[in-house]
Amino acid sequence: MNIILLGPPGAGKGTQAGRLVEKRDMIQLSTGDMLRAAKTSGTEMGKRVAEVMDRGELVTDEIVIGLIREQLEGDKKGGFIFDGFPRTLAQADALAALLEDCGETLDAVIEMQVNDEVLVDRIVGRAAEAVAAGGTARADDNAESLKVRLMAYYKQTSPLIGYYHAKGDLTSIDGLASMDEVEASIAGVLG
Ligand code: AMP
Repeated sequence: MNIILLGPPGAGKGTQAGRLVEKRDMIQLSTGDMLRAAKTSGTEMGKRVAEVMDRGELVTDEIVIGLIREQLEGDKKGGFIFDGFPRTLAQADALAALLEDCGETLDAVIEMQVNDEVLVDRIVGRAAEAVAAGGTARADDNAESLKVRLMAYYKQTSPLIGYYHAKGDLTSIDGLASMDEVEASIAGVLG
């Protein structure tokens, strides 16, 4: 089973993906995590995307599609969870083609609905927690980048809601419920 978790930054996609990995042996494919790893390891691509990511803008479709393509070639285990990908219509089309090429299907797209006020609180809270724990906040977890990230979501990613609805793949759930309730809603969709 291959699924997409769709929703703005801070909606809880990563948390729920983590639970699906544990409970269903699925593989989490987070382009954000892959890009952050590339940034940290100082690869040529990492250097190229660092500033764009820190500003909160989207990196090019070509880069993220390339990252996903590489991952689809490996072990598929309980299926893929696409977390933070696709974020543009071009990425959605590319994903459809990639899945078809490897004989896979897209089984569900789950939209996690939340409101902006909660997102800002969550993300600012996430940054403060990281710092309190002695770590450093994500470079893009600050109010300025967050505004850009939210705009990128509404302008470039939210059209995917209509796209997947038209394909009959979309289910929207309440992302503001507790983590356990959200997990139960997702389980209800996946069966
Ligand atoms: P995330 O951890 O999903 O919030 O992603 C962090 C940042 O990585 C985003 O703000 C973008 O700069 C970049 N990014 C992650 N996934 C994508 C994607 N599918 N397309 C373009 N940029 C992405």
